[in-house]
Amino acid sequence: SPVLVLFRDDFRLSDNPALHAACATGQPVLCAYVQDEACLPKGVIGWWLGQAAGALAEALGKRGGTLLTPQGETLAVVQELAKDARVSEVFWNRRYDPVGKEIDTILKATLTEQGVAVQSLSARLLHEPWAVRTGAGQPYRIFTAWWRAARELGEPGRPLPAPQQIQFAAVPEAFKKHEVSTALLKPALPEDATQAAQYWPCSEENAHTILEDFLDDTLAHYETDRDRPDREGTSGLSPYLRAGLISARQIWQAARKAEARSGDHVNTEKFLSELGWRDFGWMQLFYEPQMPTRNLRSEFDQMPWQNDPEAFTAWTEGRTGYPLVDAGMRELRATGTMHNRVRMVVASFLTKHLLTDWRKGERWFYERLVDADPALNAMNWQWCAGTGIDASPWFRIFNPVGQSEKFDPSGAYIRTWVPELAGLPDKLIHTPWKINATLSRHLRFVPGTTYPHPIVELKQARAIALESYKNLKGSE
Ligand code: FAD
Repeated sequence: SPVLVLFRDDFRLSDNPALHAACATGQPVLCAYVQDEACLPKGVIGWWLGQAAGALAEALGKRGGTLLTPQGETLAVVQELAKDARVSEVFWNRRYDPVGKEIDTILKATLTEQGVAVQSLSARLLHEPWAVRTGAGQPYRIFTAWWRAARELGEPGRPLPAPQQIQFAAVPEAFKKHEVSTALLKPALPEDATQAAQYWPCSEENAHTILEDFLDDTLAHYETDRDRPDREGTSGLSPYLRAGLISARQIWQAARKAEARSGDHVNTEKFLSELGWRDFGWMQLFYEPQMPTRNLRSEFDQMPWQNDPEAFTAWTEGRTGYPLVDAGMRELRATGTMHNRVRMVVASFLTKHLLTDWRKGERWFYERLVDADPALNAMNWQWCAGTGIDASPWFRIFNPVGQSEKFDPSGAYIRTWVPELAGLPDKLIHTPWKINATLSRHLRFVPGTTYPHPIVELKQARAIALESYKNLKGSE
């Protein structure tokens, strides 16, 4: 009798333990992606997951099968499908977010009770969230200690190949209308995300091409260039990891192979440790399911956030008057991504200079990022705001001008995303408000008109931020 594979955020054929195990039963296989409102995100990430499901449908189509994409509550839909198709066993790769975990726990219990076997497998991370614990059996709170312990577990498991052959099961009559063979276009991209589709070609093959290009051309400069938004210094793999078009284990193994060819240990280790941060984020969400909404350091519950709505809008629209901040926010809007260094700068600016609750920024990012990830977004926002575990301390306030001069020295990144600044000389592009009347005429640039004046004065805003923190109970 047929077996069923449920796809969720693992839209790939290779290194897919659930699909692999289902094929190994020798039984005909049904493939389904249940579009359950409870776990379907809105915004750009919703669009991206739809694209990824469509790409998987296409890949299955080439092998003579289909992807079923019924809508509804996972429990009800899967029970109905299992009954109609007389499914004997259901396979899926584990989820670790609170909603996914809860749905899967109930689903497993219900199916088992009804005599349908269930296997949940490990696919998303290098190591399961509970695999790395302190000597006292507690989750780690410091990344470096956690990473050392994770490395002591040895190399992560080897990725599995795509199944050589998939013997597809007949689709039950009632589900035929849910067969999909190409891209699912819902939800649509926000209208102003004009460049997202061209930035992110969506398929498993694309993910591997991007990985190979990165290993060949970029990894050798990773440690220095990863902080430079004006260079192609990072892999660009986060959206592909988010939708599971590629796995962390596949990236790990390919990086190790590249290292064996080049002997470049330093850059490889730096890159692999970033995959470590990804696991660390998911470990945190597993143990702290409230991480996206609750300060992990409770003294911040008393923080006197100003939450000025006009300042927040200026931030979202890239009109703060600080060129690097504005470039980042406009890049995010147009493409669905933002360079990591710039994410840190805009997050520090929002929370500290504008004294706006990090949760507002976290939500804005979540709706706009093509790699929007519940664990990594929340962990990084809490890191930037100083409210998280192993976070950057509150008093570390990035100066958006200093960061701009250091990491985008010629202003190439700013010029790309803030065209009204494109004609300014390198020296002035970081501080356009300093342009005097003579230069203004010469450059045809009027501070405050061509481009906004800064919405806050940095020194003063910094002093208020430090004072607000000093008054918190329990802050050192
Ligand atoms: P690379 O430098 O090539 O890194 C390879 C992989 O390592 C990434 O794809 C990612 O999976 C992981 N990684 C890299 N940096 C981090 C990090 N700081 N934390 C955890 N994992 C990391 N990343 C997301 O994937 N989704 C998010 O929603 C997200 N929100 C963020 C919000 C803020 C405020 C900040 C400061 C960072 C956020 N990040 C998020 C982390 C990071 O910015 C992105 O992972 C990175 O920019 C992706 O680019 P890349 O794939 O080229 O990275």
